[in-house]
Amino acid sequence: MSPRSAVVVGAGMAGLAGAWFLQEAGVEVTVVDRRCVAGGASWGNAGWLAPALTVPLPEPGALRLGLRTLLSPSSPVYIPPRADLRLARFLVSFGRNCTSRRWRVSMSALAALNRGSLAAYDELAEGGVEEPARAGEPCLVAFTSQASREPFVEELEAVRAAGQQVDYDLLTGAEARADEPALSERIDAAVRLRGQRHLNPGAYVGALADAVRHRGGKLLGGVAVNRVRDLGSEVAVLGAEGTELRADVAVLAAGAWLNPLAAPFGVRVPVQSGRGYSFTMPAEGLPSRPTYFAGQRVVCTPLGDGVRVAGMMEFTGPDRPVDPRRVQAVADAARPLLPGADFSRRTEEWAGPRPCTADGLPLVGPTRSPRVHVCGGHGMWGIALGPLSGRLLAESIVTGRLPAELGPLHPLR
Ligand SMILES: Cc1cc2nc3c(=O)[nH]c(=O)nc-3n(C[C@H](O)[C@H](O)[C@H](O)COP(=O)(O)OP(=O)(O)OC[C@H]3O[C@@H](n4cnc5c(N)ncnc54)[C@H](O)[C@@H]3O)c2cc1C
Repeated sequence: MSPRSAVVVGAGMAGLAGAWFLQEAGVEVTVVDRRCVAGGASWGNAGWLAPALTVPLPEPGALRLGLRTLLSPSSPVYIPPRADLRLARFLVSFGRNCTSRRWRVSMSALAALNRGSLAAYDELAEGGVEEPARAGEPCLVAFTSQASREPFVEELEAVRAAGQQVDYDLLTGAEARADEPALSERIDAAVRLRGQRHLNPGAYVGALADAVRHRGGKLLGGVAVNRVRDLGSEVAVLGAEGTELRADVAVLAAGAWLNPLAAPFGVRVPVQSGRGYSFTMPAEGLPSRPTYFAGQRVVCTPLGDGVRVAGMMEFTGPDRPVDPRRVQAVADAARPLLPGADFSRRTEEWAGPRPCTADGLPLVGPTRSPRVHVCGGHGMWGIALGPLSGRLLAESIVTGRLPAELGPLHPLR
């Protein structure tokens, strides 16, 4: 029987998109979060909806970075050198997925999602979510040499070979500066990428929460769920403070905190927090269009009057405080490429945990319990893919049939 009520744990993009699409199917929803709306990774991220770049994180090139780079606090990917068995297991499994064959398998699953990810945003806009997901100018991916651009262009061709439309031009450094005068003379090559969008993630997730409320959903902040129980005909969602919520089904969308809640329902895939950092700067001297410095792994996204600068992948616990050295590393990586920007004027320094899986695929679908479902593990791309995942999960919950796109994302894989 189709469920009539659901409790969603986690008010990030994944949870709220799932809630909104469940409402479309007539299900009453209550969304709970231990903090607040967008209290996890969904607030300070770069906000790119870029199907051409939505590729599996484990790729053959990741291993080439080498252990020495990974242990330097100023590296764009940082693994703190401390004993952590769980992290070690994750990294071994991640390493096993860094082969061309595994990348192609995961890519074909992501391509099936990427083809529909922007349409899910259009559905939310038509359904009354007011914050825009802007198309705007084509985005730029900038490189300090033509040689460093080659692997990126090969990857775009591999994305195209997986069945996605990818529309790009190759630019010289001078052509890139004609598009984007903020770039320094060090930029020697670029890719102009069409057909992508961007948004202000905090504002968007806030608007999505408003839409869920407006349609009769309840949102409860400050409820830290420590257990979900399947009672046979319904679920009980139990909060640390003694809250108990009952519903026909539960959706676990707890981002990088997913594992302890999902493990009792047979979900064994580790979700590792890959923390990223961002800060916001006045627009002066910064790109006026979304720009990615791929070699430095730094992204600039225009948001209102300012520009958000984001980067870094730090494999540490999701609740650690912002580490100023990591913020500095992002600023230091970007500074030589943006000579007109004053990086001392940064505000809103932020860190958030990307919910990463070792095979680079999200976890979306049912668990061992027919009443408990998962929506998460989107790693680098939970903003781009969240709405479509929410739509597909709602379809699976309401019909009891798994849409084909969700096969490779099965939480019990
Ligand atoms: C620097 C950076 C840049 C990024 N750039 C992009 C980008 O450009 N495009 C893109 O698509 N993605 C990007 N991402 C990734 C994206 O931010 C994430 O994939 C996405 O936000 C994950 O959404 P989520 O809803 O699964 O998790 P979250 O947003 O983390 O939400 C999980 C929620 O669950 C709550 N929660 C956890 N445990 C419990 C519990 N026990 N009880 C109750 N509530 C709980 C948390 O408080 C949190 O609010 C970026 C990430 C970072 C860090």
